[in-house]
Amino acid sequence: IFIPLLGLVLAFYFYSAPENFNEEMLRGKRVIVTGASSGIGEQMAYHLARMETHLLLTARTEAKLQKVVERCLELGAASARYVSGSMEDTTFPEVLVKEAENTWGGLDMLILNHIGQSYFTYFNGDVGHVRKLLETNFLSYVAMTVSALPMLKESEGSIVVVSSIAGKAGSPFIAPYAATKFALDGFFSSLRHEFIIDKVNVSITLCILGYINTESAVRSVSHAIHGTPAPKEECALEIIKSGALRRRELHYPAGAVASTLLLRDIAPEFLDSLIRKNYKLENIKRT
Ligand code: NDP
Repeated sequence: IFIPLLGLVLAFYFYSAPENFNEEMLRGKRVIVTGASSGIGEQMAYHLARMETHLLLTARTEAKLQKVVERCLELGAASARYVSGSMEDTTFPEVLVKEAENTWGGLDMLILNHIGQSYFTYFNGDVGHVRKLLETNFLSYVAMTVSALPMLKESEGSIVVVSSIAGKAGSPFIAPYAATKFALDGFFSSLRHEFIIDKVNVSITLCILGYINTESAVRSVSHAIHGTPAPKEECALEIIKSGALRRRELHYPAGAVASTLLLRDIAPEFLDSLIRKNYKLENIKRT
């Protein structure tokens, strides 16, 4: 019984043994990064610039994008440009992808990372806000994927979707945001199956992130949760590596995400109670 078991373990190990990441994998590649004016997206742009990629960055704030592009060029990007616009505007995803097509005539990696503003408190019943956030955080991801797919098929490229542990396990005070992140998992995990069935060689990497020390995350939740955020620079690099290695999912920080997912499957109510204990409820204001 041990021999077949050992065979199974070894087969699993070799099948899942990680290929090593090498910065050469990205040199000269054409990459779109959304939400690139701040936080993790900005850090991804800097890593990709050091790896000598061609970059097309986007977000709403032109002044910030200009600075990020300048820095990317200093760091060694093969080229860097931006298009500013809001993903609340249903026509913008296609405009952005068209810009890549007109500039490069192709695309190797689509990194979907932006999020619209939401609130951190009890759900206030505002259905309009949920609808708007679904447009920004979810539907624009779908629209960009649809527009970029012909180019990604041609280059056998990659789609990287930045999601959250809040898109795998329910957490209080972020109901609209969590809904958009669960939606990403449902859509892109389904699409991944279809790509495999259809032999479409475009990888989909879903990034499941814990608490990261971006300015906006720290500003909105640090008063209300226990725990230290992980560094955005390392997080950004791990996302890029996972995309380049065509991994199915990234879990970052690995330990925190893995233990949450394990508990979700074997002891969901216990996990829920741990999650609730992680909040400083006295600091959550009702609107
Ligand atoms: P930031 O708030 O720092 O960055 C968000 C980016 O999205 C900015 O570039 C912002 O630029 C852009 N953006 C905001 N609204 C719009 C809009 N309407 N249209 C287009 N772009 C918009 O976020 P983080 O870096 O913290 O998060 C990045 C990703 O990581 C997100 O997908 C998030 O869900 C995920 N994540 C982050 C965690 C964390 O703790 N930080 C935890 C788990 C997941 P501008 O305002 O100029 O438009």
